Amino acid sequence: MGKITGKYKFVCNRKVENKKTELTGQVKAYVPADENTVHGEYICAECGHKGKIEQEWKRPFNVKCEKCGFVMKVPKLKDQVKRDKKKAKK
Ligand SMILES: [Zn+2]
Repeated sequence: MGKITGKYKFVCNRKVENKKTELTGQVKAYVPADENTVHGEYICAECGHKGKIEQEWKRPFNVKCEKCGFVMKVPKLKDQVKRDKKKAKK
C-alpha cells in the first residue's frame, strides 16, 4: 500500500482473529473520503494468504479471504478511537 495522504473516512491497520480467536491475521484498509470503496490488503487469519481488498464500504466491515473463504471480522475500535469524527475538521 502506498502512502496515505489526503482525507479518509476510515483507516485501519489491525490484527484479526482466526477461528480460535488468535490474532494471526492482519487487515490494512482505508476508505477515501470521496469514495465508498474500501481499498487495502489482508493476511488471512486462517490460511495466511495475502490478498487485496477492494470492496464496497459498509458496516459491519468484514474481509473474506479469496482463497479459503474465511471471513475476518474487523470490529469497531471502541477504546482506541476517540470520538473525534463528529468534530470533523476542515
Ligand atoms: Zn484464507
